[in-house]
Amino acid sequence: MGGFGSGRQNGADCTDDFRWIDIRRWQRDGLISQGQQINWQWLQHGEKVASIGGKVETDRIRLFYSYNRIGEESEDLDYVVNLQTTSCNYGGARYWFICPIVGCGRRVAVLYLGGKYFACRHCYRLAYRSQRESNHDRADRKANKIRDKLKWAQGVLNTMGGKPKGMHWKTYYRTWRKYHEVSDQVLLGISKRLRIVDDWLSSMSNKKKF
Ligand SMILES: [Zn+2]
Repeated sequence: MGGFGSGRQNGADCTDDFRWIDIRRWQRDGLISQGQQINWQWLQHGEKVASIGGKVETDRIRLFYSYNRIGEESEDLDYVVNLQTTSCNYGGARYWFICPIVGCGRRVAVLYLGGKYFACRHCYRLAYRSQRESNHDRADRKANKIRDKLKWAQGVLNTMGGKPKGMHWKTYYRTWRKYHEVSDQVLLGISKRLRIVDDWLSSMSNKKKF
């Protein structure tokens, strides 16, 4: 159980470092139609913790949101994710995201946001692996140490568990906060390895400097 990206979001508590968008949900909500504006929010304890905007265009969706990191200036992102359809057995079409990461292009229902860009689960795993292999990743070791203490599965791409039995709430909250500090660093490292394919963005950057 658990595992990368499992759990609930939107309308329910979103307690993971990762946020995600699920095109099946958007399609069910009638959001995937030409010209449709999307304003998607993530909630924590019933309060909005993050949001993104989207606009559906022909065969693609434009996503815009701010990328914020503590101690850094926030960056406004605006890029497209291509869409594909497959036909259903019972008629109608099913939509998919095409993962926008360079070298990927997988057809997926869910894209994750754990840093700067939305990417499929495969891309995050790959980036995480190369991150671990290529350096003395102290933050990653630290994160795993804390996960161990909390009796959570190893690896920042796994979901977070709850408070272990017998641990005081005060200790738990302190540990949990510490975990977020280090897992943020790990995710930052991961997201730096991801590059998006974006024709729209590159065509824009020829016209104006970002
Ligand atoms: Zn991908």
